[in-house]
Amino acid sequence: MRLKKVGEFPLIDIISKQTAASHPSVIKGIGDDAAVIAEGRDKCLLVTTDTLREEIHFKTSFTTPFLLGKKSLSVNLSDIAAMGGTPFCYFVSLSVPESLSLDFVKELYRGMHRKAKEFNTVLLGGDTVSSLKDIVISITLLGRAKKKSVVYRHRAKKGDLIYVTGYPGESALGLLMLKKDPNFFKRKSAVKKHLDPSPRIALGKALAEKKLANSMIDISDGLIADLEHITRQSKKGAHIYLSQIPLSNSYKKECLDFSKDMYHPALFGGEDYELLFTSEAKNKTKITNLSKRSGIPITCIGKITDPSEEIAILGNSNKKIKKGNIGFRHF
Ligand code: ADP
Ligand code: MG
Repeated sequence: MRLKKVGEFPLIDIISKQTAASHPSVIKGIGDDAAVIAEGRDKCLLVTTDTLREEIHFKTSFTTPFLLGKKSLSVNLSDIAAMGGTPFCYFVSLSVPESLSLDFVKELYRGMHRKAKEFNTVLLGGDTVSSLKDIVISITLLGRAKKKSVVYRHRAKKGDLIYVTGYPGESALGLLMLKKDPNFFKRKSAVKKHLDPSPRIALGKALAEKKLANSMIDISDGLIADLEHITRQSKKGAHIYLSQIPLSNSYKKECLDFSKDMYHPALFGGEDYELLFTSEAKNKTKITNLSKRSGIPITCIGKITDPSEEIAILGNSNKKIKKGNIGFRHF
């Protein structure tokens, strides 16, 4: 069977089953934003890996090598944020054609190094190979957390409220703008969000250490697609209230020039690298205070329901809306 027919997530399930094995140090293997490995009595190591491939994840005509370097590390940092951890070192595997300029590679690493410094993270190694044509940047990032505070995808509870940080959909809107005219739209905030996302490390850590999240994931494939990972792994359903989805003013002003539907990029667009988490209703005031202190919007957009209900998107008068296509899948 061809991979196109299998699909990205069933493929990962097949790999996971085929290679199933246990090890006394492994707390969580395949299936979350990062693997969790015991380190001593109370601590654990978090390990995540993510790849950006030219023409699939980026085009050199849309970005600069400096921003590309920043984003390559940010997408990995975001996975550590989703576990509530603190990053500390990374490895870079770089595939590049021999025609690429040295300046491009230097700028790429300047971008990575800038992002790394922001989060007190150091480059410890990697690999360099030649490619026939495309640039591929694969990063493995390690982080740390206290065992007890790690937040997983599979622990959402019925009745939990669902929260999202920031404004989902801006990155997808930025990509639509770049596709229309990369030069004309380059100063738009949505484009900046797409090219240079901000991993929510401090917020993820605060939520984890204050025990304010039962489950958490970062939004890389789209809000609904990533919520589906939480509901499937927690064996729960969810209600999402369309009217509560936070949209930034600039998004509201410009979205309909690029998308037929105001909510489509916010619900189904990917690469926001915001956090999506669930928390007991009693934590609402604490979460509001955390949002005020951090200056990052955290909005309640729905609640976790019984397993049978799947994800229902509710519009006016709580009427269910059809989901259509869900997020970005590689196959
Ligand atoms: P994220 O979007 O948070 O980076 P992914 O959807 O890429 O997460 O991956 C989900 C889980 O599947 C992770 O535990 C990841 O390590 C694992 N995974 C993805 N691809 C592979 C693969 N080819 N082989 C083994 N594990 C994989
Ligand atoms: Mg993730």
